[in-house]
Amino acid sequence: PSPASRLERVLRQDAFSDADIVYLLGLDDPADCEALRRASFDLTSRVIGDAVHYRGLLEFSNVCRLNCRYCGIRKDNRGLPRYVLSKRQVVESALWAAENNYGSVCLQSGERRDEKFIRFVEACIREIRRESVSETLPHGLGLTLSLGEQDAATYRRWREAAGEHDGVRYLMRIETSNPELFARLHPARDRKRMEKSWRSRLRALDDIRAAGMQVGTGGMIGLPGQTLADLCDDIRFYARRDVDMLGMGPYITSLGADMVEDGMMDKGPLMQLSLNMLAVTRLVLRDVNLAASTALQTLFEDGRERGVAYGANIVMPNISPRDVRKNYQLYDNKPCVDEERADCRGCLEGRIAAVGRRVGWNEWGCSPHYARRT
Ligand code: SAM
Repeated sequence: PSPASRLERVLRQDAFSDADIVYLLGLDDPADCEALRRASFDLTSRVIGDAVHYRGLLEFSNVCRLNCRYCGIRKDNRGLPRYVLSKRQVVESALWAAENNYGSVCLQSGERRDEKFIRFVEACIREIRRESVSETLPHGLGLTLSLGEQDAATYRRWREAAGEHDGVRYLMRIETSNPELFARLHPARDRKRMEKSWRSRLRALDDIRAAGMQVGTGGMIGLPGQTLADLCDDIRFYARRDVDMLGMGPYITSLGADMVEDGMMDKGPLMQLSLNMLAVTRLVLRDVNLAASTALQTLFEDGRERGVAYGANIVMPNISPRDVRKNYQLYDNKPCVDEERADCRGCLEGRIAAVGRRVGWNEWGCSPHYARRT
């Protein structure tokens, strides 16, 4: 069959073979990519609706105990000034988000497991939930935590700190579902201590689910040595784990990381591959929350909107205070480091409208998949 008819046939299905997935991920002809985009966007309209939800991203500390080789805030990057925001700064940033009609925030940081840190996060969660209650947010802000691997008891403590209401999510990327590639990305000394080993990551995902939170994972796209078959396996992994939400984004080199010499894909093909990954994941997993990552915006200024056009329904505008942003550069050229958070709020709304979506102000925007499975 001609390529066009194969594409039409594949896009008409609602179950996909591995060969179909690899074929769709590898599309690069503009007309073919547009057909894939349309299929994903239309499915998103049907199963999710036309609202895109904001998660105000608050990067409250770059202190990290790990040495993930790709990451600019890894522990051994000695040149980086380390910071931890105060509890008041965290709560006030979250309240800024609430006052600006964001339905939820995401607390992210480097990984720490000490009791002081656990208690700090617990107190932030409790105060954000309590102080953000208003007429528009009767149960306070929705909360996503992205704080790495923790003990099962810690996940439970943080879930309980949020009170009896839902809207608590945890985002922890598997990074790649290929255990060998995972091992190459994480130093042996961390893995030996069972810190960020592929198995410890799986266990942590189980513990997050058992703690009663919405489960989010995801991975990097375009890693050195990663194949289309690996990305297909990532999608199968997400489906098998029955996750509620996904944060996936392109891999971008970082001068502060430990794999600069491995290089990264060229910007154009990396962007298209990342967009294809969003679209195909939408077609296979259907009703999950899919984030358009900030890393997309690093590649191209309109990257996040293009992600929305390819089926993403979540964006994460940065609400961190401006003076700490330059020290949370996971990868080079991270966008918005010099902007005020109000600039991020304003510039995005029009861009989202331009691709045919609206912002779901003052809503938690929970994963429909989570609602269905619970
Ligand atoms: N410490 C937490 C954790 O490990 O889940 C959250 C913070 S961590 C910096 C958030 C994510 O940043 C990682 O899961 C990784 O996928 C992503 N990241 C780090 N370095 C990156 C890079 N060079 N390019 C793209 N994404 C990167």
